[in-house]
Amino acid sequence: MARVEIKNLEKVYGNSFKAVHGISLDVDDGEFMVLVGPSGCAKSTTLRMIAGLEAISSGEIRIGDRVVNRLPPGKRGIAMVFQNYALYPHMKVRSNLNFGLRLQRRSKAEIEAATNEVARILEIEPLLDRLPKELSGGQAQRVALGRALIKKPDVFLFDEPLSNLDAKLRASMRVRITDLHKRLKAEGNSSTVVYVTHDQVEAMTMGDRICVMKEGRIMQVADPKTLYERPANLFVAGFIGMPEMNFLEGELIAGPSPKFMVGDQCVELGEAVGARLRPDAPAAATLGVRPQHVRPDTVAPNGFDGVLSTVEFLGHEVVLHVDVGPTRLVSVLPSADYDRLDRGSGRLRLVPDLDALHIFNRETGENVSLPDRH
Ligand code: ADP
Repeated sequence: MARVEIKNLEKVYGNSFKAVHGISLDVDDGEFMVLVGPSGCAKSTTLRMIAGLEAISSGEIRIGDRVVNRLPPGKRGIAMVFQNYALYPHMKVRSNLNFGLRLQRRSKAEIEAATNEVARILEIEPLLDRLPKELSGGQAQRVALGRALIKKPDVFLFDEPLSNLDAKLRASMRVRITDLHKRLKAEGNSSTVVYVTHDQVEAMTMGDRICVMKEGRIMQVADPKTLYERPANLFVAGFIGMPEMNFLEGELIAGPSPKFMVGDQCVELGEAVGARLRPDAPAAATLGVRPQHVRPDTVAPNGFDGVLSTVEFLGHEVVLHVDVGPTRLVSVLPSADYDRLDRGSGRLRLVPDLDALHIFNRETGENVSLPDRH
């Protein structure tokens, strides 16, 4: 059983650069927690502090029931999988897998059983007598995974483990790792995971919960659906979702039935938005709506008028780029809807789904349109 609890964790590097600004995060026993954010947001620094590869400047890290602040990596009950596999080049797969157990002087029978068991789980039995240079990228990554698995750690720490693989392999390894996690959990093994990636697709598909980071701070921690539907701020709203959420800067006219002004255009947001707007929602606001939640119409009474600039045909869907004043909005439509559209003049009205739009405080970035529920 191993929870990971991080309290007020800070990291100041030797050059006095503060990389981590007092973050707190709890990872439940058996949970798959993804740390995601753009390059440089301190995902790796945080993971390396949990691993004990990087000293912490202040705060506390607990793994299970122990404070591990001063424990060396080998005593923390963790196993780490790196981006570059870090296999020993001169050792066969078999020896790479069981190197740790041999160091611990386990019995020969025990080592052999554990090696075979891990090779079976990861389907790498035919590779046991190969050298790392005789493996493909995906096979090498599975061996790296096996080397972590064989230790039966309390917590698995992954640092961008799929970044060196091509897109197709990445997709299949993603599923393989999530399946493995489910299986370990179902069989009652320790299966707490902290997984670092910059890739939002990995984060969304793999995480039970996702911790979105920016510049050494946590922006939001939530399950994938909540992050997508209820982003706490502009940063999370823009980081999660493809294509990126549309943002329009304008003036919010508050009231029971609020309006949003962009240039000389005024859009009625309606009472439902009014009901969920926070009383402190400022006039200087940014409206956010996902491309999937804004559709073109030529006659609808309420929407943003714009000029169709570019159309990208992707087969099953069509991506429209529409200029509304100085702002470019994107709308994603099923192909059939696009075919039905009268687009003779090139002018379109973009109609937002009022239930799915967000209003952000432009200054603080905070989402001020979330109802008070979780
Ligand atoms: P990420 O994993 O999110 O890309 P890192 O944890 O690698 O980010 O880095 C976080 C920040 O700390 C970056 O600004 C990086 O330049 C800085 N940093 C990382 N390692 C060091 C170091 N050894 N000394 C000084 N600054 C560092």
